[in-house]
Formats: sequence, structure tokens, C-alpha cells
Amino acid sequence: MRLIDSHCHVDGERFDADRSEVLARARAAGVTPFIVIGTGNTLTEIRRAVTLAEAEPDVFAAVGVHPHDASAIDDAGFAELATLVAHPRVVAVGETGLDFHYDHSPRDAQEVAFRRQLRLAHAVGKPVVCHIRNAHAEAMSVVDDEQLPAAGGVIHCFTGTPDEARGWVARGFHLSFSGIVTFPAKSADPIRAALHVVPEDRLLVETDAPFLAPAARRGQRNEPAFVVDTASFCARELGVPESQLFAAVTANARRLFQLPPV
Ligand SMILES: [Zn+2]
Ligand SMILES: [Zn+2]
Repeated sequence: MRLIDSHCHVDGERFDADRSEVLARARAAGVTPFIVIGTGNTLTEIRRAVTLAEAEPDVFAAVGVHPHDASAIDDAGFAELATLVAHPRVVAVGETGLDFHYDHSPRDAQEVAFRRQLRLAHAVGKPVVCHIRNAHAEAMSVVDDEQLPAAGGVIHCFTGTPDEARGWVARGFHLSFSGIVTFPAKSADPIRAALHVVPEDRLLVETDAPFLAPAARRGQRNEPAFVVDTASFCARELGVPESQLFAAVTANARRLFQLPPV
């Protein structure tokens, strides 16, 4: 069985000591390829994902300005980002979006950066990876106002309600579920309910490693191999065979990110 980790940050410092072992463990568990998301408050940090994608044949990069860093990137930074997005190993723009939970950047700066990146994704014909936290209504109105990237997009690490999930599906988006869906806490119940309203051909899974290890790995640094836990959980929750769910999420990620045939 094969799975794709559709969103991880293995380019980051927390993997500097053992990155090749982490990737090897994932491959041994059937997880490959990896979509590595370059983030940071400088282009130097964002570019690390591309460097990793140049070195590892089964790593593909997404690059963008995270909502947390929206006020740190200036016009010159956005110009550099536009060049980087055209790199052949870059398969998506993002993560971008709105995070009104942490509010690390002012909301107006987050919205401006989100609009710029939606347009950029549309212009280059690549999908957009969205990070939306406590801001689904606001993000939907931005998307309605802008041109939806022709190549589509994904709401990564979805933590909204079933109604919000329906809203994104209606707008043509994919939804990606992380280890949060496995958390036994009552607060994860709406996320599990949302899983049930996503059509099988719009579903993705991810680790968001090093963050958000699935329930069985609680307290550990998350890593791409653990996406198997999340995918298995989703299959059980939906009452479908693992083989069916694994094949669907893998095909969906391949299609969305326009990955080359194996
Ligand atoms: Zn995110
Ligand atoms: Zn992320």
C-alpha cells in the first residue's frame, strides 16, 4: 500500500539531525512521495523546501508566505516568491490563507498576502495550499472575490465544521485531514463529522510534521511515516476498506499536485 504525505515540514531544523532516516522510515512504511511546504519569514527559509526537492527525487515542494509571516515579506520578497514558484520541483503555492486563531500577523496583511498568492497560483497554473484557522467565512469570501486557481486547491489540516467543509467542497477545493482527526477529545468531533461530508475524490491526508502527531504517537515529533495512522483512522471512521481509502487519497494528491507518473 502506498500513501502520499500531502503536507509536511521535513525541510525544517527539527529534522536536520536525521532527515534521511525519517524519509527512509516513511518509504519503508509505504509513504512516498512527500509534499514539503516551505515556510518562514524570509525567502531563504522558504527556499529550503525547494533545495530538499532538488536533492530527493520523491520530494516535491510548495512555497508560499504563511499567514503567520504575512507582514514579514515585502514586495521584493513576493517578487522572489513568484520566480521560485515557477521552479519545476514546485508543485503548489502555499501555504497561504488566514489564521485568526493566532493572529501572528495583522488580519489585513494576511488577507493581502492571501489574495496575492491566489492570483499567483492562478497565473502559474499550480494549485494553492491553504491554511485556514478560525477564519473559514472570511477566507471563502476572499476566494469568491478572487479567481480560484484553475488548478484548484486544498484546505490543509482541516479543523472546521461539516458546514464549512461543504462550503469548501462547493468551491472546488480538496480537504486534507491531519492527526487532529484521531484525537479522542470531544473538540475533534466536528472534524470527524466534517470527514463524512467530503466526497472521496476530494479527500487528502497529511502529517503537518513535525506538528500534530496522531493520537497513538502523542508527545512524539510527528514524521511522514505516521500518516498511515491518520489514513487508517479515516478508513475506520468512514467504514470503508483501507485499500480503498488509501488508493483514493493517493490518487487525489497525485491529480491535485500534477505529480509525474511513478
Ligand atoms: Zn498550516
Ligand atoms: Zn504546514
